[in-house]
Order: sequence, then C-alpha cells, then structure tokens
Amino acid sequence: MSRWQPDRNASIATAGSLLGLYAADHRLDASGTPVQTANGNVLRDLVNEFGSLPLEAVEAPRHGRPDDSNPYISFDPELCILCARCTRYCDEVEGVSAIALAYRGAETTVATVADRGLLDTTCELCGGCIDTCPTGALTERRAPDLPPEAFDKTRTTCNFCGVGCQVDLNVVDGRVVKVTGPPPGETVNDGNLCVKGRFAYDFIHHPDRLREPLVRGEDGELHATTWDVAINRAAQGLMDVKKAHGPDALGICLLEPVHGRGELPDAEAQPSGVRHQQLPSVRGHVTRADGRGARDHVRRRRDDELHRRDP
Ligand code: SF4
Ligand code: SF4
Repeated sequence: MSRWQPDRNASIATAGSLLGLYAADHRLDASGTPVQTANGNVLRDLVNEFGSLPLEAVEAPRHGRPDDSNPYISFDPELCILCARCTRYCDEVEGVSAIALAYRGAETTVATVADRGLLDTTCELCGGCIDTCPTGALTERRAPDLPPEAFDKTRTTCNFCGVGCQVDLNVVDGRVVKVTGPPPGETVNDGNLCVKGRFAYDFIHHPDRLREPLVRGEDGELHATTWDVAINRAAQGLMDVKKAHGPDALGICLLEPVHGRGELPDAEAQPSGVRHQQLPSVRGHVTRADGRGARDHVRRRRDDELHRRDP
C-alpha cells in the first residue's frame, strides 16, 4: 500500500481559498491586502506568503462598542477574524470572562455583557487580549498608529512590584509610547502583564519625575546632589533620631510581593521597628487586587468627569 503524500500545491491552493474568505471580511489596503496595524497582522502575513482567492467583499454587520469609554483598549470589528484568542485568553488565562463571542452568523462579534464598555464589566484592564490578537483588531488606544518596525523594543524589568515581570518598552524617537509583554515562554511572566505594568508608563517622561537625588540645604530648598551625599545624609538623619529618642523611634516600611524572592526574613526575626508589607501577587504575573483597584479608579475618574460635565 503506497503511503499518502501531501500535495503542497493543493495545500497552498486550499490555504489561499480560506485566506480569501477571511480577506473578504476584512479591511484591505489599496493593493487589496489586509491592512497593516501597529500590532502587525498575521492575516496580512499569510496572504503575502500564500496568496488569497480574490472574492467580493462581504458586508458583515458585526458591531463594536461605540460607547466604550475605557482609556486603554479599543476594538475595531472590521479587523476581527473571530479567532476567539482574546476571549479564550480572558477566560482561561485571566479567569475574568469580560469578553465573549456573541450573536450569530455574520453578526458574531467580540462582545461584553449588554455591550457595555469595558470599565463597566469585570475587565481588569490587563491588556492581554491586545497582545494575543493576531490582526490588530484589539489595540492600545494611546499608542501611535505606526507599523511594527517603527518601534524599537528594549526589554527591562517592571518596577511596580517585586515580582520581576519582564516588559518590552516600545520606543519611538527616544520616547516610550507603548509597553508590551514578551512572548509566552520567554520570561517569568509568561507573556502576561497587569494593568500597571502595561499601561502606567506615563511617569517615564513626566516633567515632575525626580531624576536625581535631592537634599534640603541650609536655605530650606531642595538641591540636586550625588547618591553618596544623599545616602549619607539620610543615614545621618536616622542615626540622629536613634541617638535622641532610642531605636524604637525608628520605623522602616519595606514592600515585598507574596511570591517574591523572599530576601526579607520574617517580621518576627527583624529588629524592632522594621516590618515588611507583603503585596498580593498571583503566580508572578497578575496582581488581581491591583487590577481591579486600578479599573475601579479609572471608572471613578470617568464618572467624576461625566458628573462635572452634566451635574
Ligand atoms: S483587558 Fe484583560 S480582563 Fe479585560 S477584556 Fe482584555 S483580557 Fe479580559
Ligand atoms: S483575538 Fe482579535 S481577531 Fe481574534 S476574536 Fe479577538 S479581536 Fe477578533
């Protein structure tokens, strides 16, 4: 009995037919290829590699969420191929289920309960659905609309808690304009980030950010100095307090995540006045309490703004 051999030409023709069906329900550029997006577009890459059957465009009545006031995540239904990667990520990785495929037939879309904006759902604004979307249908609102090659990526460690998640800073003209998670399997956070790691990067270029140590001079004003001088001044201040009032007058607060590296000994074993606060973290990537707190904070800010405009 002869062994079945795959027919490469037939496989490519089948792939082209399937890609043509997807492309007919997708926004195309002037050359008839699926558009490029800031997050790339896997459908475009596949069509460029295998070609696609030219089919007449279909008018899918798939809808998005026009009233979604969340500041971070936007959904463009014309770029969605209904692969369900985002909804599975939200359900199976985040355990949140804020989004799901809803409606039927050509109207099927990525929806929330009653098509509410993400701020009014269980969404924790982790942004993982953005990273997992292959076509750029889900994007970060504030990021510039540039092709992927326009971003220089620098990998670094998120500095919001002690878990040590790795983040990729996306830089354009020397400014961080977006943060993305490294691909799954490469780093401790396995492709995941929380709301802070992904979206709270405004501080990097904020004009009020402290960029060098400051000490108060004889004139009562703060002056820039070196780390050596600043650390010695702080140490001297602590020693002066201890000398004047005893060691119990000193208190130092250290922060460490529950699943951190455990450098700090138990509070009971520490000298008087030294306590460390443990932060809630889950398996080194999702700070759930932080996520919900941040989501509620953004929601309150939006509600305050709406109330200011229409008391
Ligand atoms: S941001 Fe996170 S929680 Fe919100 S819909 Fe996307 S995956 Fe789900
Ligand atoms: S991951 Fe992107 S393309 Fe896939 S269903 Fe979600 S929004 Fe649509």
